[in-house]
Amino acid sequence: MNVEEWLKRGLVSPSDMNAFLPESGCPMKWKFGKEGRPGMQTDKGAMMLGSNIHDMIAMYFGRISDRPTEAAIRGVADGVWDEAFNERELRELKKRGERCWKNFVNFELDRRRTWKVYKPTLTEARLKDDKYVGIVDFHSDPQKTCIDWKTGNLNYLRDSELRQGKVYQTMLENHGHTAERCLFVALYTGRVLEMPVVTDGWLGRERARMLGMVERGEFPRAESGLCHGWCPWQLDCTVNDICLWM
Ligand code: SF4
Repeated sequence: MNVEEWLKRGLVSPSDMNAFLPESGCPMKWKFGKEGRPGMQTDKGAMMLGSNIHDMIAMYFGRISDRPTEAAIRGVADGVWDEAFNERELRELKKRGERCWKNFVNFELDRRRTWKVYKPTLTEARLKDDKYVGIVDFHSDPQKTCIDWKTGNLNYLRDSELRQGKVYQTMLENHGHTAERCLFVALYTGRVLEMPVVTDGWLGRERARMLGMVERGEFPRAESGLCHGWCPWQLDCTVNDICLWM
């Protein structure tokens, strides 16, 4: 979907906002991505690990029972790891993957003891309303809680997580669910971070800020650690405003 089609659709995802807004992403990088520009090869290992672990978690919840014993949690998780961890593509990140999976199992063992209903109401659910679209990793109606799994280094919540969590809460509520709590589970560190109260107004302004810039054709560079090694369009970005024949 190119920029015009994206604007016409009018649905903003948390990943769009986080990839676009200069504090967490880069408007120019977002535009190059939407245009489908071919770029340089960059290391996608961290992204692939995140996607692999999310798929494994969905597989785990597809197999686990409503009232599992500790042994069942460990057994199902071991089976999913053996079957679904992408050893071939993620050899260099295997240790990180093992640590994330171990912390996931520990979190689930703890959740089994403390939550009245173990199985989630939704997993990896793609939701949309008239303003937002996104994938909710986990939601429990009885616990009124949604969870987002993170495999990166997350020690505190930034605006990017607040946008994400508030969009999930909003969409869940617009679909008849109750999401009073939103937890970010940092699987690499084992930390659980609870989202503070975020107002509808704040999220609405973040959405309007992005839409306004895109409508006005404002795609400034936002140089950061995203540039080196991670941004496939470093070259396009450098020559974007340069006329090569002058
Ligand atoms: S190189 Fe940096 S500033 Fe340029 S588009 Fe990529 S992320 Fe943005």
